[in-house]
Amino acid sequence: MELIFEKSRPGRRAGTIPGSDVPAAPREEVIPREFLRADLDLPEVAEVDLIRHYTALSRRNFGVDVGFYPLGSCTMKYNPKINEDMAKLPAFTGLHPYAPAAFSQGNLQLMYELRGYLSEIFGMADFTLQPAAGAHGKLTGIMIFKKYFEKRGEKRTRLLIPDTAHGTNPASGALCGYRTVTVRSNSEGGVDIEHLASLMTEDVAGLMLTNPNTLGLFERRIEKVAEIIHGKGGLLYGDGANANAFLGKARPGDIGFDVIQLNLHKTFSTPHGCGGPGSGPVGVGEKLTDYLPLPRVIKRDDRFEWSYDHPDAIGRVRTFFGNFNVMVKAYAYIRALGPEGLKMASEIAVLNANYIKVRLTPYFDLPYDRPCMHECVFSGNRQVREQGVHTSDMAKRLLDYGYHPPTIYFPLIAPEAIMIEPSETESMETLDAFCETMIRIAGEAQDNPDLVKAAPLTTPVKRLDDVRAAREPDVCWKG
Ligand SMILES: *Cc1c(COP(=O)(O)O)cnc(C)c1O
Repeated sequence: MELIFEKSRPGRRAGTIPGSDVPAAPREEVIPREFLRADLDLPEVAEVDLIRHYTALSRRNFGVDVGFYPLGSCTMKYNPKINEDMAKLPAFTGLHPYAPAAFSQGNLQLMYELRGYLSEIFGMADFTLQPAAGAHGKLTGIMIFKKYFEKRGEKRTRLLIPDTAHGTNPASGALCGYRTVTVRSNSEGGVDIEHLASLMTEDVAGLMLTNPNTLGLFERRIEKVAEIIHGKGGLLYGDGANANAFLGKARPGDIGFDVIQLNLHKTFSTPHGCGGPGSGPVGVGEKLTDYLPLPRVIKRDDRFEWSYDHPDAIGRVRTFFGNFNVMVKAYAYIRALGPEGLKMASEIAVLNANYIKVRLTPYFDLPYDRPCMHECVFSGNRQVREQGVHTSDMAKRLLDYGYHPPTIYFPLIAPEAIMIEPSETESMETLDAFCETMIRIAGEAQDNPDLVKAAPLTTPVKRLDDVRAAREPDVCWKG
């Protein structure tokens, strides 16, 4: 496909505007010198060319509005469009973040109440809505860990992280100056309790645990895990990226988590991907509320205001107050579904994943075979062994059949991992059609491995050289 620059013709315009009746000023006088450039080299096209160009590009894209998107861990569920309409209400979008509290009572009330809902759903004492995504929430959570031990005068230098964890866990620990230590998983895909107990000492700040973990498995011995960590004065951190699995069923606060982060863009109705706006609220138990970031919305008499008066707070973690539009969508979603609806969403998400797990088990290796939560993790090992066809080949073959592939090669402890998360918003027919396609690809791997290794055959771009793209990134168009 031609680039917009290649469609450019000198002097062609998408629109004309009347001549100015204001005296012209030399551009050097109105634009700071450092922004001035002799030639911007912008494409010159007619309006219709512009529209066709971007419409054609958008039709080559894949999103949850186009088809099934079972990308494990990411919860790419369909999000009701009405929540977008709520976030677009002019009363929300028209307000400047610096508007005084007296003019923003509705927005403050929404944030105050959302904090309350999240606290109730997850059993935490309070939440901050400031962090902009899950990774940012983890950083905030570990900064709270750090402050807590500092206030207690305890010097702890290490942080435990299971081998199934997402890379943002060790990264957040390292950014806060902790040495991260890996805890092994057992043959059931849970934390190896003996290994955990041997690592947990008074020098360890705590454990960062994802539950259900990235294998889609609920930590069966979670209470024991909490006991081991708390027994040595440590804190238990919960990566709540998988919260879609247990809304209304289990509360991290009741189970023993001291800090959790959520990904509102995964669980609570914000379309995401490609780095779109996210939100990673952090919830804490009673003993950590003093350390939450500033400012906080408080309610005094019937008015809402910003409070800065918390001397032990870790400070601000983001400009303004967080990604407000994502909060509006989460608020609308929680209010619309209510406690029963949220619970049902999780129940169907778990049912759908188990359905896929059972249907595909005869065709793919399943490294950890027990009932899963909202996602199931297969391995492409059988196909590698028998036909030399890899998980990446089968994932690319899915593109030919119009599916976004599942997450692959994560978690790292499952070899040739294929991590499927259907979410609650897909029908039985969609799940069946996907399973039949996976079974068909397993058959192709058997009968025609070269075909699968050559996939994709029908997409606008074929197989890319990922190694070269990583080693020699070239993202600029050179005219
Ligand atoms: C998505 C995800 C993260 C990172 O969250 P972002 O919002 O993308 O920063 C961390 N841990 C797990 C398990 C995840 O699935």
